[in-house]
This record gives sequence, structure tokens and C-alpha cells, in this order.
Amino acid sequence: MLQSKFFGKTLREPPKDETSFNAKLLSQAGFIDKLTAGVYSYLPLGLRVLIKIQDIVRKEMNDLGGQEIYMPALQPQELWQETGRWDSLKKIMFQFAGRGDKEVGLAPTHEENVVDIVRKRLNSYRDLPLLLYQIQDKFRNEPRAKSGLLRGREFNMKDLYSFHTDKEDLDEFYQKAITAYQNIFNNCSLDSMVVEASGGVFTKEYSHEFQVPTPFGEDEIIFCKSCNFAQNTDICKLKEDNKCPKCGQKLVKTKAIEVGNIFKLGSKYSQDMKLVYVDENDSRKEVVMGCYGIGPSRLMGAVVEVFHDDKGIIWPANLSPFDVHLLLLSDNNVKSNRAKKLYQDLTDQGWQILFDERKLSPGVKLNDADLIGITLQLIIGEKTKDRLEYKLRDGSQEGTVKESEITNLLEKIYSSKKVN
Ligand code: ATP
Ligand code: MG
Repeated sequence: MLQSKFFGKTLREPPKDETSFNAKLLSQAGFIDKLTAGVYSYLPLGLRVLIKIQDIVRKEMNDLGGQEIYMPALQPQELWQETGRWDSLKKIMFQFAGRGDKEVGLAPTHEENVVDIVRKRLNSYRDLPLLLYQIQDKFRNEPRAKSGLLRGREFNMKDLYSFHTDKEDLDEFYQKAITAYQNIFNNCSLDSMVVEASGGVFTKEYSHEFQVPTPFGEDEIIFCKSCNFAQNTDICKLKEDNKCPKCGQKLVKTKAIEVGNIFKLGSKYSQDMKLVYVDENDSRKEVVMGCYGIGPSRLMGAVVEVFHDDKGIIWPANLSPFDVHLLLLSDNNVKSNRAKKLYQDLTDQGWQILFDERKLSPGVKLNDADLIGITLQLIIGEKTKDRLEYKLRDGSQEGTVKESEITNLLEKIYSSKKVN
């Protein structure tokens, strides 16, 4: 992609009304555009990253045995009355008049919709377990939408629903889901903790949140540094410096961002909506369910909160909107032709290249590159002779490289981490 033609220029300053790092940097660098509080458009750069995150999530869901579906945002009132949630979710669900005397709403979550689909089709225990997921936009009338992509009123979610014959089968799958979630956060280069949290109103069991510790998180968790005990302070009776109930070491408190949340729903929805199956002995039983959410858009915000410096964003290789930011910092014809050829060659090899061939000063281009944060910068400048300069945006490596060695360098940075 030629940067002169690329839509979404960087801004000189971050927007004045944004306070969080992710909103400031993603807006200034041209990834997102705010329409109104908690509602953002994704520009070409932002959409590239969002899709990479969704693909990481999708791969893990498929590996778990999940089958992808796509459910509507627009929901009829009657469906939500079956579970009592038309009223209990009134504050968070956008609800309004539809046609005639019908009320409709925008889905803040999809248990009702998915159970309705499954109850029309499920017959016997042989159809179970069943794992359905989608990657889709949710709507929630959040009271505070000030943290950019971390808390949207319209935001992207991956929601998986699991259907089982009994609790044992759910428990077994639940553990596999935890591992899949950990793979996802690892692939996004985030250190996440599995944290016990409120199970919601339907169960006495805990739910499990996946929390990324950062000073900018809205949640607070208490955890043990030596074993894996961690609880959301919402439910925690322990205090910082108390002893860990599991191993006796001291507990620590930290702010964190909830990037995922998984629940054992049991038979709450199957009961309310009559989702049953016929077992081996021909008797009708309620299906046992779990639900598993991740916010790809919140994840994108969380990654920026964790990976940035005073110059801009620092994308981890797996999420970088392009593989290479190729910077031509000279108006010499020979160098310019060389850069064009390199751009073409690398593009032909299948690498994603953003080529900054704009007629701007080197300083402006370098600042833009640091702001945008593509993992690898390749520089052809006045000083460049037979070797090119390269720089990893995270500062871990810089030096010079022969043209013939570039593919090797790229493979080192990307191939081991690429999600296929
Ligand atoms: P929170 O406590 O932060 O409001 P939640 O517990 O209501 O979130 P869930 O219903 O568990 O959220 O949703 C699953 C996942 O969807 C969350 O872990 C998060 O990654 C994402 N998510 C939830 N609400 C939002 C939001 N308003 N904006 C962006 N992502 C969100
Ligand atoms: Mg949650």
C-alpha cells in the first residue's frame, strides 16, 4: 500500500475530548474515528488490526470444535420476555418501538437468540455437545463510555455458547475453553490472569474473567504472585497483604482490564425457554449450557494501553497492521527506484507493506511511523548504501541489513508467530 494513497492521515494532536491512551493514540494515528461517546468507526489501519485479532480468536474457537454462526442485532421483545430479561436488562439494552405495537431491542448478548435457534433443531443426546459461536457487534447503553475501545456502546464481541447433556461434560469443556482463551491472549502478546469473579445471578459458582494488569484498567483484582490464585475485588473478602488462601504467600492488588469472561450457565436458559433433549433412556432432559465472551475491540484497546510509549503505539508482531513500514527518506532518484522495486518484490512475496513514498520531510515520516507503530521499519535514506537500516518499533533491535537478507529477517520476526 502506498502511503500517499492510504486513507486516514495521522493527526497533529490527539483529539481533546479523549483521555485514555488507546483512544488518543488510535485516533491520532488514524486507526479509528469517534462518531459519538462509545461508538467508533474503524479506518483501514484499525480494521486490519481488528481482523487480525478476530482471526486469532476464530482459529482457537474452530480448534475447540466451535461452529461459526452470525445472529442479528435486532431482537423482538417477546423472545426476551421468555427469560425475564426484557425487564431486568432495561438499563443496558437499547429498546424502542418497532412496527405496529411491537417493541424491539438491540442485543447486548445472545443467549435468548441462540437458545431459540437450538431448541428448534435439537433432538437427542447424540446432537450434543454442541458449540456455536459468532463474532458480531453488541449494543449496550453503558453509563460511562470514556475509555475509547475499552468500553463501547457498540462494540465487537466473540460469543461462544456450549450445550451439554450434563454438568460433567460442561465442566470438562470449560477447562478446554480456559486453555483456548489463554492461547488467544498469548497470541496477542498479553499477559492475562484467570480471575474468579461473580457468576452472575443464575449460579453460586464463580465465573472466570481473563484480566490484563495495567494501571489504566477499570477493574481491580487481588492476586498471589506465587500460585495462580486471583479474585476480582468485587467478590473478594480478602485484602492486599492478606495471606493467599491457597499457598500462604502475600496477596497483591492491581488494576486490570477484563478482556474475557466465561460462565457456567447451567440450565437457567434451557428451563426458561424449554430447551430439552431426549437421553439414552428416551426421557427428556434440560440441556446444560456455558457461555464464553471475548471483546476483540476491547482487546485492541487493551493492547494499546499495554504497548505504547511517548511516541506512539508499539504493535506486537501478530497484530501489526502491516508487516513492514518501508520509509523512503531521500528524494534521490536511484534510491527512490530502489525503494519502489523493494516494495514491489516484498509485496509479490506476500508481505504486507506500507510504503511511505510521500514527499515529506524525514522527520515527519519517522514521527508518523513511530506513532502508527508497525512492528518493523525499513529505511532507505541519504546514508543508505548497499545495506538498508531497519528498526523494530519496540526498540529491541536495530541495525543494517542487505536486501538479500530482508526476507530472512521478516521470517524471523513473523513466521514463528503467524497464525494460519
Ligand atoms: P464489564 O464488566 O467490563 O462491563 P461485562 O462483564 O459486562 O464487562 P461480558 O458480558 O462478560 O462483559 O462480555 C464479554 C466480553 O466482552 C468482556 O470480557 C469484554 O472483553 C467485552 N466487553 C463487554 N462490554 C464491553 C464494552 N462495553 N465495550 C467493549 N468490550 C466489552
Ligand atoms: Mg464480564
